[in-house]
Parts: sequence; C-alpha cells; structure tokens
Amino acid sequence: MVDSSKKLVVKQYQCPVCKKIHTIKFEPDFAKNRVKYPFTYAFMHKFESPTNIEDHEKDVLTTLYIDAHLNIRGVEAVLADDNTNILSKETSYEMITKLTKVILEMQSELDEMQEKYTALKLKCEQANIK
Ligand SMILES: [Zn+2]
Repeated sequence: MVDSSKKLVVKQYQCPVCKKIHTIKFEPDFAKNRVKYPFTYAFMHKFESPTNIEDHEKDVLTTLYIDAHLNIRGVEAVLADDNTNILSKETSYEMITKLTKVILEMQSELDEMQEKYTALKLKCEQANIK
C-alpha cells in the first residue's frame, strides 16, 4: 500500500490494549509547529483482539507521544466501556455551568415560595387570633 500522492509517513506502535502492533500514517508535516516535543496525539480506534470477539465494537482511546521526527515515543490506551462516557473538559464544564444555573433558579423559586408560604401562614395565624 503506497500512497504516492501524499507520501504519508508510516509508523507502528504497540497497542497496550489490543496487545497488537498497529500501523498509523502521518502527513509529512504532521510534527511541524508544535508547542513542545514530544507532542500528544489522541484518537480512537476499534478494539482488535483475536481472542476477545465480544469486545470488538468497543473503542480504544489512544494517546501517542510523538517527537519532531514523527517517532512514537510513548503510547497510552484505554478501552472505553459501554458505561464510560468520555467527555471533554469543555463539555463537562458547559454541563456543570448549565446545571448550576438551573439549580440556582430553582433555589430562588423555592426561596420565593417559602417567603409566600411564611407570609400566608402568618396571615392565617393572625386571622385565628382574632
Ligand atoms: Zn489497539
């Protein structure tokens, strides 16, 4: 398999989850203009295992540590369970902000209702005294 039009750089890494050697292709300038080296590259791939067929639909979240010469210096991988939701920091923050807003609105509504209730109770008590 040669992609002559793009001249992709082919690299291999040992996947700690699949226990297999995976092949990955990079654009030749993929490592250029990074803030620091090695830089991280995160992506998902489907779980591959010759023995564990039932987990084949699961995603493996992979983080590669790549140096300036496109050499893979480190690999981290986690198998995503069905009940594991991988949320980005931004998404989590957005959800928490929205929920906090809703809770605060509910709290102020509750305060208002309690105020009205107290006022009403006071009126009733005063009515009974008379
Ligand atoms: Zn893998």
